[in-house]
Amino acid sequence: MESKDKKNVDTQEIEKFNLLAHKWWDPTSEFKPLHEINPLRLEFIKNSIDIKNKKILDVGCGGGILSESLAIEGADVTGIDQGEKVIQIAKLHAKETNTKIQYKHTNIEDFYKNTSEKFDVITCLEMLEHVPDPNSIINTCSKLLKPGGKIFFSTINKNLKAFLFAIIGAEYVLNLLPKGTHEYKKFIKPSQLQDWARANSLSFDSIIGMTYNPITQKYKLSQDTSVNYIVEASLIND
Ligand code: SAH
Repeated sequence: MESKDKKNVDTQEIEKFNLLAHKWWDPTSEFKPLHEINPLRLEFIKNSIDIKNKKILDVGCGGGILSESLAIEGADVTGIDQGEKVIQIAKLHAKETNTKIQYKHTNIEDFYKNTSEKFDVITCLEMLEHVPDPNSIINTCSKLLKPGGKIFFSTINKNLKAFLFAIIGAEYVLNLLPKGTHEYKKFIKPSQLQDWARANSLSFDSIIGMTYNPITQKYKLSQDTSVNYIVEASLIND
């Protein structure tokens, strides 16, 4: 059963990540796929916007794989996550690697209520499929974006192939992810994401797929958005 509190937080989902948090930076652990796709995500973001000296908000930052890579490229990064242990790990790792990042244990709706800051870039990667109400996340992201800024969302498409690859393949055949990591009903079609984006005054500027080849065991950016994909969006009135 899904547990949901009024904060747009699924507490069972958060617990799943908290329990594994200590393994976040082990590139052979359950987080191996995040380590492997990170250079691809970073490349996509950097091709779309110069991030040096930009204020970036990383929403659902986890242990900080993306946040740290953005900070190393010269961005001024704030990372937020609802997982308490997850954020502790992120803070500890940034300290160990001497990377300057502001990490906060919170969710985006609460963060928004308590800040007057706006951001040049917002990243919300591999998180929308873990929340009860993705539209509310998108809405709040749009309110935190500076005019001319960019938002990046990534998630998993909803179709038979995505079910076979992201759940059966990744969790049951190849054991890339723990069983129960993803729920099919929370997957999001790009058209649904686009509808939510438009309802929040955001336009899709581009979309790209990330595909996994089980033979070579490598991910690559591709035009195939049928399983994992990343979207770049900006405010319609810009
Ligand atoms: N974005 C990171 C981590 C993805 S894992 C990356 O791609 O490398 C998903 C993360 O979202 C977990 O760390 C989980 O704790 C966080 N999360 C889930 N629901 C959340 C919510 N409502 N608010 C903030 N963080 C959330």
